[in-house]
Amino acid sequence: MNENSSLTEIWLAILAIDLFRYLIPAAAIFSLVWLGRKVLQKYRIQATPWRATQHIREIAFSLSTAVIFSIIGTALFFAITGGYTKIYTDREQYGAIYYYASFFLLMVLHDTYFYWSHRLMHAKPLYKLFHKVHHYSRQPSPWAAYAFAPPEAVVQASFYLIMVFTVPFHPAILFAYLIFMIVRNIWGHMGYELFPRWFVKSRFTFWSTATTHHDLHHETFNYNYALYFTWWDHWMRTEHPEYAERFRQNAIGASK
Ligand SMILES: [Zn+2]
Ligand SMILES: [Zn+2]
Repeated sequence: MNENSSLTEIWLAILAIDLFRYLIPAAAIFSLVWLGRKVLQKYRIQATPWRATQHIREIAFSLSTAVIFSIIGTALFFAITGGYTKIYTDREQYGAIYYYASFFLLMVLHDTYFYWSHRLMHAKPLYKLFHKVHHYSRQPSPWAAYAFAPPEAVVQASFYLIMVFTVPFHPAILFAYLIFMIVRNIWGHMGYELFPRWFVKSRFTFWSTATTHHDLHHETFNYNYALYFTWWDHWMRTEHPEYAERFRQNAIGASK
């Protein structure tokens, strides 16, 4: 794929990447928890089982999200190759420290963008159009990671649009981040708590969201809006009051 490829070829290549980026990890994590459901039952966060119709809906909306991402991704491809963005290709340009640190910068900025855009989409005038589809899954499954209505898919993709025009990133870091983000997102929707019991209390990990964090958002709706880190919910007093307790009930190593 280069500047001389046709528009359709470029779009199809980006679409294939977006589809596989979702389908492969979602299928892998779903297979893990589905095949192991008897053994994993004690780590199940909500007792209500998934239904096949739910998975069909989650997959259909996630595929529509992948198509929207690929259209925006194609526009970005031309903006990047045309030299209109802050994307840089020489690893040494900002030094090795920035090169690696920019991955974590992306995480922090994305978590902030996600928290505030998510809260906005929960506002009554916006909720129905933007975010209702994602909340159809009261007991989320790994397939729900990209289950967004088209307007919400645009909101989610807009983070990358803002980033490439304002902050310098190397394409390899962006790509690695996109893979990490979808795997982490699917992990957050898997419905089973596979983090160890000390995770929410240890000073090395308490700032990171466990699967129960986002699962409780789907279950109770008005709490736990963040993506990776617990700090925004903490600061804005939107953390679910029973988050730590619910986590401890399901996590690995909990006394059942
Ligand atoms: Zn929500
Ligand atoms: Zn969700």
